[in-house]
Amino acid sequence: MKLLMVGAGLSGAVIGRKLAEAGHDITIVDARPHVAGNCHTTRDAETGVMVHVYGPHIFHTDDAEVWDYVNAFETFQPYKNRVKTTSKGQVFSLPINLHTINQFYGKTLRPDEARDFIAEVADTSIEDPQSFEEQALRFVGPDLYEAFFKGYTIKQWGVQPSDLPAAILKRLPVRFNYDDNYFFHAFQGMPENGYTAMVERILDHPKITVHLETSFERAQKDQWDHVFYSGPLDGWFDYDLGRLGYRTLDFERFSYDGDYQGCAVMNYGEEDVPYTRITEHKHFSPWESHEGSVLYREFSRACEPQDIPYYPIRQVKEKALLADYVALAEQEEGVTFVGRLGTYRYLDMDVTIREALDTAAAFLAQGQATPAFVKAPL
Ligand SMILES: Cc1cc2nc3c(=O)[nH]c(=O)nc-3n(C[C@H](O)[C@H](O)[C@H](O)COP(=O)(O)OP(=O)(O)OC[C@H]3O[C@@H](n4cnc5c(N)ncnc54)[C@H](O)[C@@H]3O)c2cc1C
Repeated sequence: MKLLMVGAGLSGAVIGRKLAEAGHDITIVDARPHVAGNCHTTRDAETGVMVHVYGPHIFHTDDAEVWDYVNAFETFQPYKNRVKTTSKGQVFSLPINLHTINQFYGKTLRPDEARDFIAEVADTSIEDPQSFEEQALRFVGPDLYEAFFKGYTIKQWGVQPSDLPAAILKRLPVRFNYDDNYFFHAFQGMPENGYTAMVERILDHPKITVHLETSFERAQKDQWDHVFYSGPLDGWFDYDLGRLGYRTLDFERFSYDGDYQGCAVMNYGEEDVPYTRITEHKHFSPWESHEGSVLYREFSRACEPQDIPYYPIRQVKEKALLADYVALAEQEEGVTFVGRLGTYRYLDMDVTIREALDTAAAFLAQGQATPAFVKAPL
C-alpha cells in the first residue's frame, strides 16, 4: 500500500520503518527542516557541542525490546541523569534523597532516622489529598515543598499547585539513600551521535521517501491508502472546536568559555527566578571534550497559536474538549492518530517507540481497518 506518515519524529519514523520492512511504500512529510521531531539534536556551530534543540532528552526505559530497537540504530553511551536545584541560596541534589534531606535540615540522619523524620514533618492531617499541593505537603511537609516544588510548579504550569490535580504527584520520588540517579529505569543512555543521527538511520530504507519542509493538509488524505498522523489532533480539524491547551517553552541560548555550572541540568526552584532551569548541553556527552559551552535558560508559558506545543495541560476543561475531538476522530476513515500530539499526551521517547511498534503491528494485522486510535487518548 501507499502509506503516509505525517511527522518525521519518533512516531512517524518507527511506524514508517516497520511498514517499509513489510513491503509498503512509505512517504514521510515534516513541516520542519530536519527529522527527529522534538528529539532533534545538532552540533552547535560555535562550540561543536551536541545541542538538544527542543530541550534536554535523556533516554530511559524498562522495555528491553525498545532498548534493543534503539541500540540497533545507534550506539548508546552510559548516561545517568543527575539533576541539581538551586534554592534558598544553596545547591541541592534531586530527586530528594538522603543527601538533600541532611543538607536541607543540617542533619546527619541515617536512612531509618530520615524516614521517621520526614514522617514527622509531613502533614499527616491530610488524609485524602486532592491537589498537587496537598499531595506534596502530605509526602514531605511544607519546608521541602516550598523549596523544591512550589515555585518550580507555578513557573512550569502557570497555575497554583493547589489548582493542579494530586495525580501529577502520585509517585513522589523521595529516596532514603544517597542514590541521585533521576530515573529508576533499567536501561539508560545517550545516543553517541545524537537522536537525529539515530532517526536518520531508522529512515534509511529503500521503501521510505522523506520530504522535509512539507506541510500536510487534510485535503491530501485521499492520495494515500492510509495516513498515520503525528501532528496535533485539534489541528486535523482546523481547531474547529477550539484549541487543546499546551504549555510552550522559550529557550534563551548563551555560551560560555569553560564549564558554566558543572552539570547538565540545574533547576531553579524559586518563583522570583523567571526561568525553570538551565541546561548545559556538553554535559549530556561526557565522553566528548569541548572548551566552549552552550547553555539554554528555559522559560515556560502558555502556548499561543504560533508557538510549538510542548506539554499538554490535560485538566478538566481540556479533557472535555479532548473527548469531543476524539469523538470526531473516531468517525474519520483512513487515518490513525499517533504520538504525543496526535493523542494529546505527554509521552517519553521509549513509550512513543513502544506505541509506534504496536501501531505498526496493528496495521499489519488489520490493514485499512486500523482504528483512529490504537492507543486511546482518554
Ligand atoms: C522539553 C521536553 C523534554 C523531553 N525530555 C524527554 C526525556 O528526557 N526523555 C524522554 O524519553 N522523552 C522526553 N521528552 C518526550 C519526547 O520529546 C517525545 O517522546 C517525542 O518527541 C515524541 O515523538 P513524536 O514523533 O510523537 O512527536 P514529535 O517529536 O513532536 O514529532 C511530530 C512531528 O510532526 C511534525 N508535524 C506536525 N504536524 C505536521 C503537519 N501538518 N505537516 C507536516 N509535519 C507535521 C512536526 O513538525 C514534528 O516534527 C521530552 C519532551 C519535551 C517537550
